[in-house]
Amino acid sequence: MGVAIGDQILDLAAAAALLADLPGEIVQACAAPQLNPLMALGPRASAALRLALSRGLSAERGDQKLRRHLTPMANAELLLPVAIGDFTDFYASVFHATNVGRMLRPENPLVPNYKYVPVAYHSRASSVRVSGTAVKRPQGQRKPANETVPSYGPSRNLDFELELGFYIGVPSDLGTTIPVGKAAEHVFGFCLLNDWSARDVQGWEYQPLGPFLGKNFATTVSPWVVTQEALAPFRVPAFARPQGDPAPLPYLDDPVDRAQGGFDIAVDACLSSEKMRAAGAAPLCITKSSFQTTYWTVAQMVAHHASNGCNLMTGDLFGSGTVSGPEKGSQGCLLEITARGKEPVVLPGGEQRAFIEDGDEIIFRAYAEKPGYPRIGFGECRAVVLPAG
Ligand code: CA
Repeated sequence: MGVAIGDQILDLAAAAALLADLPGEIVQACAAPQLNPLMALGPRASAALRLALSRGLSAERGDQKLRRHLTPMANAELLLPVAIGDFTDFYASVFHATNVGRMLRPENPLVPNYKYVPVAYHSRASSVRVSGTAVKRPQGQRKPANETVPSYGPSRNLDFELELGFYIGVPSDLGTTIPVGKAAEHVFGFCLLNDWSARDVQGWEYQPLGPFLGKNFATTVSPWVVTQEALAPFRVPAFARPQGDPAPLPYLDDPVDRAQGGFDIAVDACLSSEKMRAAGAAPLCITKSSFQTTYWTVAQMVAHHASNGCNLMTGDLFGSGTVSGPEKGSQGCLLEITARGKEPVVLPGGEQRAFIEDGDEIIFRAYAEKPGYPRIGFGECRAVVLPAG
């Protein structure tokens, strides 16, 4: 494990062993190959580690004990940081839910439960890969409106979903619930997440039980996990429900969460085609959005997940759902950006994209910034799409 320090990585096991005041259980957790043992110790442990590293690095003068364990990031291969147990993907952006709903059910875009239930589907942890791993175009069963019977073959409508992910640190017991006000104690940190989606497969299979093979063939996450403590300065009030919306049910309501349950995190997605890369063109940024626009807070999603007594495990991964804002230019997937392919994106060089083509690379970035605080970058979440077969 390593800690990103500018463009370098600090070897966490070596550094923790040098920090004299750090409790033994934290030093031991830092020697693990993945974050799980450290995550399980909870926010007080990660805050203590963060403080000790920060003091250690800034106090160093002559001996450079810690700095000897820095490696240039450019020389490192970044791996999946967490042994992921279960993966649940939420649907927290009301703008995404409304836009997608309008395409599927023009007369009834937002289903009536949306403003009461932080809905989600269970996806697969087995197919989560770290940024940089290529994604093979899935094959599946699809039936476009103009065809009378379904067929099996490569997805023709491959899409990305721009999301933030968050990892569960402290587990909960089966049969117990987590109040909204205690949810933060169970969240270790955040990453970028691409919930790759085969829209044609999804459209044919999703009724009556929701997403299945249209989603679970691949999920890409960033290698870096931004701890909740690092994001504390960027907390903002939860999304303000428009007048007339129902109040959350009491088990999803908490005054502190209302006041500071949101996070001011900017996210963007870029596309780079094979032709663009050959021509040396920079990736084209096709959307810029903000995590502030999500209808449900992270704490509400955690509380809801445990509200039936379902136990959360260290290393569980939750996706926020596509982070789409209200305006054009802030929509988090091609289905919305291109209005289901009707308004293609024009790339430098003249190529057009309704959905993702083979050879395209999708790149997500996110950051939090505010005067007086260091800018927090999330690194990248990128992957090239390979042909099916
Ligand atoms: Ca999703």
